[in-house]
Amino acid sequence: MKQKFSLLIKSLKLVRSSAPGWATANVFLSLLRSILPLLLLWLIKLLIDKITGASGSGQFTSEIIVLIILTASVYLIDEISADLSNMVRKNQSVKLESYMYDLLHRKSVQLDLINFERPEYFDILSRASAEAPWRPNSILNNVISLIRGLASLLLMTGLILTLNWILALVLLVVNIPGVILRLRYSDELYSFRRKQTPEARKSAYFNWLLTGDRPSRELRLFGLGEYFRELFRKSFRKQKEEELEIIRKRSFIEMISALFKAAAMLFVLIFIAERTVTGKISLGEMAMFLLAFRQGMTYIKDVLASVSGLYEDSLFTGDVFTFLSLEEKIRAEEPLVSVPGDPGRITLKEVSFTYPGNNDKTIDKVSLDIGKGEVIALVGPNGAGKSTLIRLLCRLYDPDSGSVEIDGKGIRHFDPAGYRKLFSVIFQDFMLYNLTAGENIRLGDTGRDESSAVSRAARSAGIDSVLGSLPEGYDTVIGNLFNDSRELSWGEWQKIALARSLYRDAPVLVLDEPSSAMDADTEYEIFSRFRELVKGRTVILISHRFTNVTLADRIIVMDRGRIAESGTHQSLMSDRGMYYNMYTKQSSRFE
Ligand code: ATP
Repeated sequence: MKQKFSLLIKSLKLVRSSAPGWATANVFLSLLRSILPLLLLWLIKLLIDKITGASGSGQFTSEIIVLIILTASVYLIDEISADLSNMVRKNQSVKLESYMYDLLHRKSVQLDLINFERPEYFDILSRASAEAPWRPNSILNNVISLIRGLASLLLMTGLILTLNWILALVLLVVNIPGVILRLRYSDELYSFRRKQTPEARKSAYFNWLLTGDRPSRELRLFGLGEYFRELFRKSFRKQKEEELEIIRKRSFIEMISALFKAAAMLFVLIFIAERTVTGKISLGEMAMFLLAFRQGMTYIKDVLASVSGLYEDSLFTGDVFTFLSLEEKIRAEEPLVSVPGDPGRITLKEVSFTYPGNNDKTIDKVSLDIGKGEVIALVGPNGAGKSTLIRLLCRLYDPDSGSVEIDGKGIRHFDPAGYRKLFSVIFQDFMLYNLTAGENIRLGDTGRDESSAVSRAARSAGIDSVLGSLPEGYDTVIGNLFNDSRELSWGEWQKIALARSLYRDAPVLVLDEPSSAMDADTEYEIFSRFRELVKGRTVILISHRFTNVTLADRIIVMDRGRIAESGTHQSLMSDRGMYYNMYTKQSSRFE
């Protein structure tokens, strides 16, 4: 309970920091709105009594007129404050939503890449992003309704107490079973949703397969629509049936508690009618007490709904805070060392790494020394660990043992963001950004905005003329997501990704299968000028095309996470080992 309370406080602090002005206005209006109904009831009582007194006289006394005007004015203020309150709440929730998204995005961008290899991470992320934008606001609104409801309830109970204490007691007691039941079901619903997150992610995935852009072609060609629809239906049904069962149970029990309330109302009606008929209370008082009782029941309902809402909120915000408090392990370690502006030798010492959940080491005691300006080719069969080695080098992951050093300094002592500035990488699964062509290249270095360098990079990657011929040239939005955008071929996208990596003026260039989708002419053109393109940079090239690999100063052959061979093309050929076999198999197809 203490933990839930502290989560509520934390959430309220978030609400306050996201929009302090709107939050204050919200609280103020809500309190104002708790007093107005009571005032209205009191005025109605006075009015009825005055009208009853004047009944049959045909006279509209000035007192009656004043009371009518006052009642109408309070009613108007109540209505206006309700509208104002809605407007304030909406403004506040928009601010809060944007604030919460920003917190989530900031965290998501900062988190270690290794988190993205763990399904549990996606479970937390999916719960946090579903709840974060609105839960803290729901907490504020529930707290306000609670305070308002309690204040109004106290006033109403006080009023009813003046008539009879039993009525006041009935009003309070009759609602207690409801709150207990709701709290129980909040717990049940929460643990159910928690359990269901992986299933919910599964249905979201099938939904994407059915509606997404990337799967759309293969889905049609292989006729997979019905297959995935069935998978979606099954997963969705599994998820919802249990939830509906819980909600069914809850509704049934709520109906029973409504019976109690109706019985209470019956009792009160008889009681007040008897008092009125026997002349113990006036007609105005009768109307006031009946309305007060009815209002009181509504307030109790609000108070109970707020209490159970707050309880539910505290359960769900726990996930948001769990996500926000996930810690980054990849950070600069003491003693801090500044990142060299012009790095020289890169050394990997006995580096080993295993992906979470895998049994075998993906990288197994790899040691490697790369000189400044050297062009290294990494080759080896699929799954040998080439891409993983690059991620370790760029410190996207930390090795389980061993170290990576630059000029003899361990990279763990550098600021990770600063360290990554030393690298420009084209990944095998490079990104397609549905932005302008120019932006797609400039994203290589957002701190630099040089059109001449953008077109130079595009020229080097062999995509300059294609981009120049687009309707708005480099300002054309590419991709197929937005209006007025132009889709490119896969090879053209890859050329843009290459241009992006060349645009980034980093001393180390990593190219992971940079030309796998390129036409022969472009590939030939790029690799004939390769030395010139990468001049002055240290280069690591991963490729399965041996014609490109032969350009390297040194070739490293990886196999099952280890370095199997290393040397120049000539030396490896004369060794007649793994490289020789791979090379001759590939080249024999051209002979
Ligand atoms: P390819 O030539 O096919 O690109 P590669 O040499 O680049 O292969 P890696 O992508 O480094 O190979 O993968 C090495 C091994 O690590 C693979 O066998 C794969 O099973 C495992 N692996 C890769 N990524 C992950 C991951 N995210 N989680 C768990 N295991 C992974």
